[in-house]
Amino acid sequence: MTHKGLLVVISSPSGSGKSTIIRRIISEGDTRYRYSISATTRAMRPGEKDGIDYWFVDEAAFKEMIRRDELAEYEQVHGHLYGTPVRPIEKWLQEGCIVFFDIDVKGAFAIQRRFPDETCMIFIAPPDLETLRQRLVGRGTEASEAVRIRLERVPMEMEMGKAFEFTVINRDLHRSIARVKKIIAGRLAERGAVA
Ligand code: ADP
Ligand code: 5GP
Repeated sequence: MTHKGLLVVISSPSGSGKSTIIRRIISEGDTRYRYSISATTRAMRPGEKDGIDYWFVDEAAFKEMIRRDELAEYEQVHGHLYGTPVRPIEKWLQEGCIVFFDIDVKGAFAIQRRFPDETCMIFIAPPDLETLRQRLVGRGTEASEAVRIRLERVPMEMEMGKAFEFTVINRDLHRSIARVKKIIAGRLAERGAVA
């Protein structure tokens, strides 16, 4: 069954700017915007809040969510488990919401397989690898070993990114935000919804 809502799945190598882009668009306050809060076993970073950035859970609780079939998809990323709760998605789709996902490339394809008619896939690419490394180090949230682990995954992510419907190279943040909004408006217009 096709719903009125839209799932905007945004993926990128860590540090490319997807969280910044999603946060800025949601802060513009369109009442249809929602954010899919993932569950994760990774530790909370300073400034993050449980139930806002993620549902922070331990491994036993995460496995229980898997067992109860509460996750639309889950992956191990950078050594931690991350998963997308399915129930809010189904509810928001029925309500005609525009739901943003900040998930890894494999999770993105899993959401597309599960909701093929409602999913819009956007890959945020860094201008180049050195800029990516600088942004990741500049963000200051990861120790150097964690930065290294994140960079190790980049070739696989860039390869899988080629199969996304849309790619936005995040040089200038304002232009990237405008481009993502234009993609969303285009998809809504195609489906006869108001952009
Ligand atoms: P991701 O969510 O993809 O891991 P973030 O959104 O956390 O990435 O961005 C990583 C860092 O890069 C942050 O410090 C952010 O402020 C910065 N950043 C994001 N987009 C740009 C841009 N277009 N130009 C310069 N810095 C950026
Ligand atoms: P971070 O630890 O930087 O918040 O996220 C690390 C990676 O995990 C990012 O690429 C992010 O998009 C991804 N991620 C976050 N939530 C989910 C999720 O629910 N599922 C999947 N597959 N990946 C996720």
